[in-house]
Amino acid sequence: MSEPRGAALPGLRSEERATREGGASKAPRGERTRIAVVTGGTSGIGLAIAERLSKDGCQVAALDLNPSATRFGQVADVTDRAQVDAALAAVRERLGPVTILVNAAGVDGFKRFADLTFEAWQRVIDVNLNGVFHCIQAVLPDMLETGWGRIVNISSSSTHSGQPFMAHYVAAKSAVNGLTKSLALELGPSGITVNAVPPGMIDTPMLRRAEARGRLGGKIEDHIERTPVRRIGRPEDIAAACAFLVSEEAGYITGQIIGVNGGRNT
Ligand code: NAP
Repeated sequence: MSEPRGAALPGLRSEERATREGGASKAPRGERTRIAVVTGGTSGIGLAIAERLSKDGCQVAALDLNPSATRFGQVADVTDRAQVDAALAAVRERLGPVTILVNAAGVDGFKRFADLTFEAWQRVIDVNLNGVFHCIQAVLPDMLETGWGRIVNISSSSTHSGQPFMAHYVAAKSAVNGLTKSLALELGPSGITVNAVPPGMIDTPMLRRAEARGRLGGKIEDHIERTPVRRIGRPEDIAAACAFLVSEEAGYITGQIIGVNGGRNT
């Protein structure tokens, strides 16, 4: 189980305590550390990933629009490169070079394609795709200098077969899968792996909002019958896959789209 929202990340407490006591030692550039940035890391899937990586011994910084005051979060809109660069500079300054990046920040969108405005299209592409571009480019120098890195992009199971009324969302997430494969080929020789995790239905604030707006064609629980493992996904299911993908032992896995969906997409 993840800790309740607002609780301090276990791995961050010692860092925060050390900083207060003046004893924090920042890792030097080029040193292989396990300093992780999780975008969207204060809610739902991103929060569970941040907590899991922290429990696994990483030092974790969450980049989000509204980070909780009780955790080491950096306010940054991932669509704004200047904000991303500033947030990452703050993380580097405090912890050291970033060698693990999980892109979990995202927004959904529901609209009949014929009625979809270009502005709405652009917004969903901007957060879900361009945000991934900005964050990867911003951390890449640290990973290249270290000669080691792990990037995991949270895409969506909707990319397996498409989703009506979500053309912009599925287009963005499909592009993230393509970006993942291409970067894996480009960055593999530099010791950096790049994978994507497309979640199925995961019980998060985003999914509950979609349910409340009647976007799921019924209640979340109605989907259990259609899910081979007979339950809705939990944020911790995605966090477990990410924890493995960012581990040392996952070094031979790259360019993969690893579905975590209870068997709904095979
Ligand atoms: P969530 O609970 O809404 O969390 C998303 C987080 O991203 C929120 O903290 C949100 O901040 C943040 N965010 C949104 N726009 C941002 C921006 N421009 N810059 C920085 N942070 C931003 O949703 P979730 O369900 O955990 O989703 C996490 C990821 O999984 C998303 O990429 C989503 O597309 C993907 N996904 C989810 C499901 C599912 O069933 N839940 C299925 C497939 C894929 P605010 O809350 O302040 O807006």
